[in-house]
Amino acid sequence: MRRISIFGATGSIGQSTIDLIKRAPDAYHVVALTGGRNIAQLARDAIDLKAEIAVTGFETCLSDLQNALAGTGIEVAAGPQALIEAADRPTDWFMSAIVGAAGLAPGLHALRHGGVLALANKESLVTAGPLLKSEAAKYGATILPVDSEHSAVFQALVGEDISRVERIIITASGGALRTWPLEKLATATVAEACTHPNWDMGQRITIDSASMFNKAMELIETKEFFGVSADQIEVLVHPQSLVHALVGFVDGGIIAHMGPHDMRHAIGYALHWPQREKLPVERLDLAKIGKLEFSAPDLQRWPALRLADEVIRRGGLSGAIFNAAKECALDLFLAGEIGFQEMAQVVELVLNRHWQNSADSHKIDVIPLDDVLKADHTARVWARECAKTLHN
Ligand code: NAD
Ligand code: MG
Repeated sequence: MRRISIFGATGSIGQSTIDLIKRAPDAYHVVALTGGRNIAQLARDAIDLKAEIAVTGFETCLSDLQNALAGTGIEVAAGPQALIEAADRPTDWFMSAIVGAAGLAPGLHALRHGGVLALANKESLVTAGPLLKSEAAKYGATILPVDSEHSAVFQALVGEDISRVERIIITASGGALRTWPLEKLATATVAEACTHPNWDMGQRITIDSASMFNKAMELIETKEFFGVSADQIEVLVHPQSLVHALVGFVDGGIIAHMGPHDMRHAIGYALHWPQREKLPVERLDLAKIGKLEFSAPDLQRWPALRLADEVIRRGGLSGAIFNAAKECALDLFLAGEIGFQEMAQVVELVLNRHWQNSADSHKIDVIPLDDVLKADHTARVWARECAKTLHN
């Protein structure tokens, strides 16, 4: 039996992971399930999967979780430190699907078991990619991508020599507002930005898809996962989201990966890797689909892509600053304090402030966690300050 933990179990990725696990309950021993405020869901899944421990990230939710699991024998805990302690319980396979920088520390701890870290939490790689990779190497752990684009690239590279890769192209649907007139974007509301044309995902990543911040994060994620340079990474707008990524080789050949809009493919690939197993996802009928569209991204519409390119070129703490400023800008947009397009303005102001102040540009050394967390904190403070200056 494989020992597994699912962090962010109550979210979109977490629930898709649980769906796969529930189909083969005898194959897995579930160590820890974690969630946030959806205690009923967390408790139900912990009981169904006979988890050792259920953890909520929020201390205020502890008593609800205790009540929901009273008499079941399942251990209960709450708060960021409890998440880390639960991640310290040995596992063979660990799903990192908390949203945001809160997923970083548990993932780092999980690497110490030397198993597989299935990484949906792209924020970890964006904020601390070199650290994550050096910890994986130190403990003999394997990081597998669970983003659809990066799983696609990973699959296209099986048996290939990365030095023969010319370029990696990741696709973007363009999100909810792709066809909106540019001048109308400033008025976009949370509800308007929050309906994804193809994927059913958490609220934050859905809005990040409309602003292209999700794709911007994925550009940085591509650099960290596959070690290619900024010049080798491209974004292609593809509204159908059926081709997830393409890898171009030095001989002019391109290997593209296609699949349905169902994260259970990427999750299942990481779950069964290095084998392939049958998965309960739709089979594409290309004759019925008929047509696929591609176009170059408009950087005026999606400045996040331009910022990500600069972040990759600068390196150092730029990724940590970028992610934290983006998370904070999204919080401010959700709270109605800034407009849709102002999110990118805030992130750009914060990045410029960092690049003006910092001597660490172009540094590629592994940056310790404390420094990453300090940068994350500073960027959030700056983002709030910068947001205020926009309306003065
Ligand atoms: P979601 O919002 O649906 O779920 C997030 C999970 O994290 C929930 O279990 C929530 O309770 C938990 N959580 C939130 N804040 C927390 C905190 N402070 N402490 C502890 N737990 C906390 O998000 P999602 O769409 O499942 O995305 C999860 C991660 O996977 C994100 O990093 C996202 O970018 C990535 N991802 C998602 C998809 C997708 O299709 N949903 C695709 C690719 C990558
Ligand atoms: Mg993706």
